[in-house]
Amino acid sequence: MIVVLKENVEKEKQDQLVDWLKSLGLGVHISAGQFQTVLGLIGDTSSLDMDLVESLDIVDTVKRVTETFKCGNRKFHPEDTVVSVGDVKIGGGNFCMIAGPCSVESEEQIISIARDVKAAGANVLRGGAFKPRTSPYDFQGLGHDGLEILKIARQETGLPIISEIMNVFDLPLFEDVDILQVGARNMQNFDLLKELGKTNKPILLKRGLANTLKEFLMSAEYIMAQGNENVILCERGIRTYSDYLRNTLDLSAVPMLHELSHLPVIVDPSHATGIARMVPPMAKAATACGADGLIIEVHNDPPHALCDGAQSLRPEDYAKLVTKINAIREAIK
Ligand code: PEP
Ligand code: MN
Repeated sequence: MIVVLKENVEKEKQDQLVDWLKSLGLGVHISAGQFQTVLGLIGDTSSLDMDLVESLDIVDTVKRVTETFKCGNRKFHPEDTVVSVGDVKIGGGNFCMIAGPCSVESEEQIISIARDVKAAGANVLRGGAFKPRTSPYDFQGLGHDGLEILKIARQETGLPIISEIMNVFDLPLFEDVDILQVGARNMQNFDLLKELGKTNKPILLKRGLANTLKEFLMSAEYIMAQGNENVILCERGIRTYSDYLRNTLDLSAVPMLHELSHLPVIVDPSHATGIARMVPPMAKAATACGADGLIIEVHNDPPHALCDGAQSLRPEDYAKLVTKINAIREAIK
């Protein structure tokens, strides 16, 4: 249920109402917009007298929210959420360009790529240290050392860093990582999501390979219900009948997620297509349909990359793409 308050309600009266609702055993999520405050009620509201609440002089309207996701629901929080990472902002009109290799391979590699993508206009550096590989015989990432090297690249360039966390036990290792990525394969690792919800770290949550938008939003809910509202949704392609591409990029998810939720939505055209030459057209399409950012794999030597070389752009091609992305953003303003 949501309770929309009238404009310019006295703080004391609002607090009284919130305290009363809490005394009934309900959670109250307060979204203070520029003009209106919305109280999102979480819990069993079936015995709450809607007419009574609506009759209060500070209340404008009361509506039932039928969707199972509450914290992430746009009805609970009508304005776009903006996630901040240092000076970088994501969402609410702020476009974020995340770029870097699939995996951190060495200090030289990541620093060289970090400098190149920064010069091209990227504002966050990606680099996997713990890799969820399909085969146990493939490169599994440099682990803890990879994170340390990534931090050196941050120091060298000033770019905030993002890396994938695969399990709860690694959380202490990620204390100094700016954005924690939950990969597609872990979208429903509920124990991990709950623990991440207890931190205040920005979390980039990727859509699972075969998950619906409702399931995706429910996974975001697992994080938010614990108190962490810094969630960024990422569409990275889903499994369909497409045979020549790694996945199918579900771009219609972008406007639909924006309609359903206030959370920022970014797109990963690299994992969606699996082919470097498919990345620029899909990145441009994602920008045109309203994505709040792009996460793109860039490697200085794609044929020799230890992971995902086939879908990695060379730095010079990334730079050309950023110019086009900026032109599209200008055009759709
Ligand atoms: C990645 O970003 O390198 C990755 C493994 O992504 P996904 O979880 O989307 O497959
Ligand atoms: Mn990858």
